[in-house]
Amino acid sequence: MKYPKEVRTYCPKCKSHTTHKVKLVSKGAARPMAIGTRKHERSLLGHGGKRAGEKTVKKQGKRQKIVMECTQCKKKHERVIGVRTRKKLEFA
Ligand SMILES: [Zn+2]
Repeated sequence: MKYPKEVRTYCPKCKSHTTHKVKLVSKGAARPMAIGTRKHERSLLGHGGKRAGEKTVKKQGKRQKIVMECTQCKKKHERVIGVRTRKKLEFA
């Protein structure tokens, strides 16, 4: 999916519509002791296996999150794009 590099949208600090630069939100580093990370690492052990009667689920895309930076006050705010996409956003 394509998305513009610059968007004119509302800035809560300037309290008016200004141009914003758009970027994808980058994922932070995983915390090694977090419960989700430990569960995931435990799931990687062994040889996989299959249970009878379990249906395979079709992969769903992700909702992309973007950061918008106001060109006037440099304030950043995030926005989630509602459409699910398989691929990462392209900025055109
Ligand atoms: Zn602003």
